[in-house]
Amino acid sequence: MAMQAIRTVAEMTAIRQQITSSVGFVPTMGFLHQGHLALVKRARSENSIVVVSIFVNPAQFGLGEDLRTYPRDPQRDLALLEEEGTDIVFMPASEEMYPQGFNSWVEVGEVTQRLEEASRPGHFKGVATVVAKLFNIVAPTRAYFGQKDAQQAIVIEKMVADLNMNLGIVVVPTVRESDGLAMSSRNIYLNAEERQAATVLFKSLNLARQLWLAGEKSAHEIREEMISLIQGEPLAEIDYVSIADAQTLEELKEIDRGALVSLAVKIGKPRLIDNIILE
Ligand code: AMP
Repeated sequence: MAMQAIRTVAEMTAIRQQITSSVGFVPTMGFLHQGHLALVKRARSENSIVVVSIFVNPAQFGLGEDLRTYPRDPQRDLALLEEEGTDIVFMPASEEMYPQGFNSWVEVGEVTQRLEEASRPGHFKGVATVVAKLFNIVAPTRAYFGQKDAQQAIVIEKMVADLNMNLGIVVVPTVRESDGLAMSSRNIYLNAEERQAATVLFKSLNLARQLWLAGEKSAHEIREEMISLIQGEPLAEIDYVSIADAQTLEELKEIDRGALVSLAVKIGKPRLIDNIILE
């Protein structure tokens, strides 16, 4: 069956009602790369029908963020998704998802208030709301998220548990460039010099892992080493470097349980994030 591109909620809902087998769902904002495609491949291998959404969600962008300039290339995205054996691409317009008078929001507590929240207030309210809407429209058996956005995956898992949403959440490992830089649609913003500087994120995560493997348990010590490595890169400006409980995202003093080491660093204009788990 040829891949279908669906642009309205009504059509997507109608098609979904015809499907009786398992549905794997991959929400994206498009401008696809191998990270997104890893999610699609995983969904393809675990479900009979694969639905991918492409929607640049205005509700999750803050004032002064890159909503208007966010990279888009729907034709290329469709070609890539067809190659991966996607069945349905749901690509609604903004007004389709947020019609006049739209006024309901999903707010997940606690885990949204850490890490990204300080620099991106309200970001996860926008994410949780759009993902809840997409789950209602697509009614997936399983939905696929990247470890790249670790806090996002935790927020979605919490929302699904708290609101009794009837689906499985699968978190897929981060796909990296050969020099370790985590793939991201926003990497396109980096000029050649910044692209080189951006390797400092993964280098600092590797340093954290090495120190931890060598027996260092103090989160403070490891953060200090990471920070001084990053500060050695003149183009890098640290937003945060965090070592937190991998479930609750509470900052740790001692690494005495599964820890999420995560960071946000501006390289020139673009703000990049990355993380690893120590356990
Ligand atoms: P986005 O289009 O940035 O909203 O990303 C859509 C999905 O792809 C999210 O679940 C991301 O976590 C995931 N994703 C983005 N980049 C990567 C990557 N490098 N490796 C794995 N998953 C990724």
